Amino acid sequence: MSDGSQGSATDLSRRARGIAMTPTQAIAARAAALKAKGERILDFSVGEPDQPTPRNIAMAAVNALGAGRTRYTSSAGLPELRSAVAQRYKKDFKVGFADDEVAVTNGGKHGFFAVCQVLLDRGDEVVIPSPHWPTFSEAVRLAGARPILVHALEKEGFQITARMISKATSTKTKAVILNSPSNPTGSVIDPEDLLVIGDMAQRRKFTLLYDDTYARLSFGRGDSSALQAIRDSLGERFVIIGTASKTYCMTGWRIGWILGPKPLIDACAALSSHSTQNPTTFAQVGAVEALTGPQKSVQELVAEYRRRRDFVHPAVSAIPRLTCVEPAGGFYLFPNLGRYLGAKVPNTLELARRLLEEAGVAVVPGEGFGAPGHVRISFARPLDELREGVWRLKEFLAGL
Ligand code: PMP
Repeated sequence: MSDGSQGSATDLSRRARGIAMTPTQAIAARAAALKAKGERILDFSVGEPDQPTPRNIAMAAVNALGAGRTRYTSSAGLPELRSAVAQRYKKDFKVGFADDEVAVTNGGKHGFFAVCQVLLDRGDEVVIPSPHWPTFSEAVRLAGARPILVHALEKEGFQITARMISKATSTKTKAVILNSPSNPTGSVIDPEDLLVIGDMAQRRKFTLLYDDTYARLSFGRGDSSALQAIRDSLGERFVIIGTASKTYCMTGWRIGWILGPKPLIDACAALSSHSTQNPTTFAQVGAVEALTGPQKSVQELVAEYRRRRDFVHPAVSAIPRLTCVEPAGGFYLFPNLGRYLGAKVPNTLELARRLLEEAGVAVVPGEGFGAPGHVRISFARPLDELREGVWRLKEFLAGL
């Protein structure tokens, strides 16, 4: 650098210069600033349940604090939590992982980041079906590897198929990421396709990184029936990245997990031992209660999100000149607003900016998800807000 900043703390690494703040955070920050000025903003940007953490879980953490559970834990997490994660997956999805094939992480995001760091080398390619969660491509890049985006089509319901994956893989493919239900499209992989992709991983020797963040928030039969078969056939080529965040309304707790072969789990723990050390100890105790305690709150959450989906999807779809795939899981709509773009509003970045400034509605532009022309609407908000939000969106679009 020749601008005088050389050697100073503003002379950022090449790595850091390439990182962009997640588009969701950027919009959410602007929405929060407008709210602080007293404006009535409807925020459909951030993907998190609006319900509080169930009381039994919160009390388990409070009691843990009271009982002095305030010290470091092992970097792979509390033994009882590793075991609770393994048991939960056995119960819910019939997939078997031993306790030492589980690492607890500071949220699913950290789990995914850690897996990329310990699995990927420069030159490796990672296939990512897109539209995709921005962290997938960013974490792959930060590990020095190359994201290879493969585009799911709106006219096919954003369905991810084995054919798509097959075309995108090469001899350099180290891993394929599957996220089902998907953030941002809500599409769920067909179990048949999942099994074929599993076969492909075996033959072409890549690892399947399966992000099941929204798996318990599926409205249909989901794809979990195939997980056991995949686990049995793929063995060490199968890694699950999960989180307590959405299922148990624990986004701020920062508890996630990785299930995979022991050498990978040990490497992730070693990496954490030099960075985060361990997820907060009393939060881990709360997570044990989440996973081993009553699961009624999860059923109630799914029922509530189904109700919201059943309202918001037809309501948004009824707005003229847009199209919107019905999500099969999760809590996002990903409508196509392409027909509203033109000379006055050239892209969805600008559309989302104006929707927030002029109509007080925060949504995330599709650009960050690899799908310009779309916006992501989180429907993890109360029904009355969704009703007003759809009305405001419709009026705003009509005025363009
Ligand atoms: N994977 C996906 C697809 C997500 O959408 C999210 C949250 N937005 C995560 C992982 C991670 O969530 P957390 O870090 O809160 O566990």
